[in-house]
Amino acid sequence: MTNSCIFCKIASGEIQADLIYQDELFVAFHDLAPQAPVHVLIIPRTHYSSLLDVEDNSILSGLLATAQKISRQMDVAESGWRSIINTGQDGGQTVMHLHLHLLGGRFMQWPPG
Ligand code: 5GP
Ligand code: ZN
Repeated sequence: MTNSCIFCKIASGEIQADLIYQDELFVAFHDLAPQAPVHVLIIPRTHYSSLLDVEDNSILSGLLATAQKISRQMDVAESGWRSIINTGQDGGQTVMHLHLHLLGGRFMQWPPG
């Protein structure tokens, strides 16, 4: 946990969020500014500033496995969904705690902006 990280505070319960899933390693909650009918953020409880900082492959596979699980929970598994991990400045990352966006419930355009 880093003192100033908002997602660490959500994971620890210090700041309230609309949690939809949690286990020992991961927490998922609704994005504050949803960009689709389903817009969930999935984070590891452990603080990693970005995807670049993760050396433990089980965190990487666990993040995707959790996304799979939540796509079913949110009922978009069959209709389809998009997972996005913004990394660094050009990637558009604004919160420096690794998170995966799970977006669904509408058709996703390509290419992204
Ligand atoms: P990024 O741009 O870093 O990939 O995504 C950060 C996401 O976190 C944004 O979609 C933003 O709406 C969301 N967000 C930022 N602060 C909060 C917060 O306090 N609570 C929740 N639920 N989402 C947040
Ligand atoms: Zn953090």
